[in-house]
Amino acid sequence: MLSATEIDRVYDTLAATYPLFEDSDDEWMTHGLSDTPFRALLSVALSTMTNGPRTIKAAVGLFEKVSTFEQLRDIDDDELRDTIRSVAHYNRKTLSLKRMARQIIDDHGGEIPTNHDDLMSLQGIGRKCADIMMNFQYGTPTVAVDTHVHRVVNRLGMVDTRTHEQTADALIDVTPARFVRHAHERLIQHGMQTCVARKPKCDDCPLTALCAHYNAA
Ligand code: SF4
Repeated sequence: MLSATEIDRVYDTLAATYPLFEDSDDEWMTHGLSDTPFRALLSVALSTMTNGPRTIKAAVGLFEKVSTFEQLRDIDDDELRDTIRSVAHYNRKTLSLKRMARQIIDDHGGEIPTNHDDLMSLQGIGRKCADIMMNFQYGTPTVAVDTHVHRVVNRLGMVDTRTHEQTADALIDVTPARFVRHAHERLIQHGMQTCVARKPKCDDCPLTALCAHYNAA
């Protein structure tokens, strides 16, 4: 496992290598998927088990039809299903989005909850989605863990975990406070561009000297 000093060097290197989303051509930003908490919540709910382009197609189409939770609650089920058909499990997500809209209207006065537990109580919102909302919309010190982040931090030896939930708990403990705010966006870019799933591009990686996976090979 990496020491605290080595983890510091990992984050320093990632910060020098990858831009923040707001300074990059990140597709979610350019398509306005994170422009408001409403858009961000619906986009993360659509994104589970779905790649970026399919999520963007569904979200952009959906935002042409709804801009409030009342409109989401009232949109015809078949129209909603057709609009988000590009994402995985679109039938289930159709029902989840309608239920989530009713929950927010009935239980939260039409406002998206700003605490983790209440976000997790919303239909279709799991740990990763709640962490993304807390991190990017509310600026809280959270590191959202998806498949890319989970893979990268385990390969590097920053954590030794099996599930995404275990990784999220362990990662927040070993991440220095000054790096927490932007840890997700740096780690996910590394996972998508360099430390990819099947054949990591170790020859192009600036972290070889620190990486447990690389040095065990
Ligand atoms: S050296 Fe290879 S396995 Fe390690 S972080 Fe870099 S790309 Fe991933």
